[in-house]
Amino acid sequence: MTAREGSLEAPTRHPLDWKNPKFYDESACQDELERVFDICHGCRRCVSLCNAFPTLFDLIDEGSTMEVDGVDRGDYMKVVDQCYLCDVCYMTKCPYVPPHEWNVDFPHLMLRAKAIAFRKGTPTRFRDSALSSTDRNGRLATIPIIVQAVNRAKNSPVLRNAGEKLAGIHRSAWLPDFAPRTFRPNAEASAAHPVRDGERAPGKVAVFATCYVNYNEPGVGHDLLKVLDHNAIPYRLVEKEVCCGMPKLELGDLDSVARLKAKNIPGLAALAREGWAIVAPIPSCALMFKQELPLMFADDADVQEVRAAMFDPFEYLVARYKDGLLATDFKRELGRISYHVACHLRVQNIGQKTRELLQMLPGTTVHTVERCSGHAGTWGVKKEFHETALKIGRPVFRQMHEHPRGEPQWVASDCQLGAHHIAQGMELAGNPVGERLRHPITLLRMAYGLA
Ligand code: SF4
Ligand code: SF4
Repeated sequence: MTAREGSLEAPTRHPLDWKNPKFYDESACQDELERVFDICHGCRRCVSLCNAFPTLFDLIDEGSTMEVDGVDRGDYMKVVDQCYLCDVCYMTKCPYVPPHEWNVDFPHLMLRAKAIAFRKGTPTRFRDSALSSTDRNGRLATIPIIVQAVNRAKNSPVLRNAGEKLAGIHRSAWLPDFAPRTFRPNAEASAAHPVRDGERAPGKVAVFATCYVNYNEPGVGHDLLKVLDHNAIPYRLVEKEVCCGMPKLELGDLDSVARLKAKNIPGLAALAREGWAIVAPIPSCALMFKQELPLMFADDADVQEVRAAMFDPFEYLVARYKDGLLATDFKRELGRISYHVACHLRVQNIGQKTRELLQMLPGTTVHTVERCSGHAGTWGVKKEFHETALKIGRPVFRQMHEHPRGEPQWVASDCQLGAHHIAQGMELAGNPVGERLRHPITLLRMAYGLA
């Protein structure tokens, strides 16, 4: 095959053809895996990104022909299983993405293989489905009394050992606490600020809380509301929300993604049409609405409206700053911040908005680490992947400790799950983080001097 290296045109992404019965044709999928694996074998640019590519190259190098045709097709899933759909290979590395004629979309090919395997019924289907039902888990685990028991169980070595044996959740992986007072019912109502629309962003915000903020770390949501209020931005919560669907997508459970989409999108689309900016404080959830759902439902006008109205919190705040509408009355210097750019934020192609804003704070130096932490949603807590997740994150754990001005006073990532994984890795490396771990929106709330 001859073709020019890379493409001179801007990358595009084809819609996911998942409603076509051919999408689920296993043999056609394996043919496509073979074609793309062959291109990757000749390229090998992505070898350091995750464990999918080293797994592929090891299979090829150890095969009878040392080419892709020497790899048993039954082993292709070993590669697929190592991919957690961070999208970094597609968005930042690959020169052969469309419109290049080779049409390589490695993550979406992995997704297709996962979807076929999920429909067939993977051996870990029960565990994976339970782990990815973040909404249901949150609702059950935050019932009074049960919540204390669940949090105690999480810290019991005996129960964690049993959980590893019976449920396949690694005994040492960081797991979140569940909050006795969840975010949505306890969110402060917005003051009646007048709406000041900017050129770059609407002047009123609808908050899509996300399962994690609602059930696990409501403080992040409360801090977001305090920052909006300080900036005289009227806000509201999205009236009804369920999981964005990203954990189901990562399993290849596309039917569940569609069910969740059907519950979320009508309300969100109505808000978008009423001129609300929709802000989701977890990058994976924002990415789901900005990219994955629009690619799965390319002809759905509501999905496209939600895509256009969806903002990452710092993307929104920097847009307000550029419109001259952001308060800059910072009261507190924050000193040294080690800041990690989460993959699902990086691939939103919005630039490093969190870094931009944190760097505006007086007396603050931001040390930015832009590399995968290895956590990857529910992937990094699974028994069979946790050690790899720690290995992938090792350079991040080291770099986060190496702030050029000295030991970091704060450690932050927009992805709060990734942040805890980083904190665990730093602790294993002898650099415990403890109370220094803060979400960037919390750091901003602190810089404003808000309680
Ligand atoms: S999407 Fe992420 S995890 Fe998957 S192969 Fe690409 S870089 Fe690796
Ligand atoms: S995904 Fe693209 S850049 Fe990465 S190894 Fe394959 S061909 Fe090369």
